Amino acid sequence: MIPYVTDTPDIRIPANLLPTDGRFGAGPSKVRPEAVEALAAAAPTFLGTSHRQKTVKSVVGSLRAGLDSLFSLPDGYEVMLGNGGTTCFWDAATFGLIERKSQHLSFGEFSSKFGTAAAQAPHLDDPEIIKADVGTHPLPVARDDIDLYALTHNETSTGVMMPILRPVGAALPADGGGLVAVDATSGAGGLAVDANEFDAYYFAPQKCFGSDGGLWVALLSPAAVERIGSIAATGRWVPASMDLTIALDNSRLDQTYNTPALATLFLFDDQVRWFNDNGGLGFSTGRSDRSAEILYTWADNSDFATPFVTREQDRSHVIGTIDFDDSIDAAAIAKILRANGIVDTEPYRKLGRNQLRIAMFPSIDPDDIAALCACITHVVGALAQ
Ligand SMILES: *Cc1c(COP(=O)(O)O)cnc(C)c1O
Repeated sequence: MIPYVTDTPDIRIPANLLPTDGRFGAGPSKVRPEAVEALAAAAPTFLGTSHRQKTVKSVVGSLRAGLDSLFSLPDGYEVMLGNGGTTCFWDAATFGLIERKSQHLSFGEFSSKFGTAAAQAPHLDDPEIIKADVGTHPLPVARDDIDLYALTHNETSTGVMMPILRPVGAALPADGGGLVAVDATSGAGGLAVDANEFDAYYFAPQKCFGSDGGLWVALLSPAAVERIGSIAATGRWVPASMDLTIALDNSRLDQTYNTPALATLFLFDDQVRWFNDNGGLGFSTGRSDRSAEILYTWADNSDFATPFVTREQDRSHVIGTIDFDDSIDAAAIAKILRANGIVDTEPYRKLGRNQLRIAMFPSIDPDDIAALCACITHVVGALAQ
């Protein structure tokens, strides 16, 4: 075992190696300075104004239309939003999206949580949980008694991404098959997706969308919209703040049930505009693709670092997890990076590996990923002196 570093050597990284922006955290993550400037410019007439009036409603309207366009949503799909972040959406979904029994793919900290929420809901049958070892992902299995398949586009704790596809052999929801609901909190905007393959694609804006936390968004297929209505019609009790019929009614009016964070909405909309103005999802995923290529190639070519995820196609393009040789203490590297203004490269704590975790969300410049790699190489060299 690596000794715990109590005395971190004072290593100064040469200024010419440093990235332009030192934020590489998995969320909250880098917010583009341009978006913050736009918010500051709009602030006098936007911040501190009513979310029931046109100024704020037009930002929500722009955001909903922008997401529709970014994800090329098919006819009949809707953009719903509410307060509380992804974690609250899981709770809302146990009330308003799962009819009786769900199936959950569990392959890390985040993907396990929705399954736990469903298991604890007294009005639902016990969910089916399909597990895989960390660093890999399972696949959904079509079954007649499953009315919702819960997938995770990117497992943020391990750096594993998975393709979003309906379970092989499952009927479409229109023909009685289960809905496909995807936690895309860290994947949405950074990973390619085909809206025909999901019924609910939900996320929060503090990751690829370079905004702040506390909001959730769900892209809904007509089948998901219908499910929300059919469950409500059974009279199942649900607290109003978790009620998806209320969330949907408010979303259609470009509002939320209770007060949203206006700065979060503004920064989120600004990021969606930035994506769309530059070519859409191809632009945003292209930036993450390029960053991932730089990071994994660097690790492959180094003699001290290895990508944690073995299968190349499972290696996330938005969250990179890099293992270090036992002779090098990754925690010491993270500390030294932090002392040099490069923050949040620490691994997911509960994974317990000698590792760095590096976000490659679209806001993060691929050149800065290259600079980060050079900085790590420098630190490893200096530690060996
Ligand atoms: C960050 C994250 C969450 C939690 O999001 P909150 O908005 O904090 O609830 C859930 N799932 C995944 C995959 C995440 O990356």
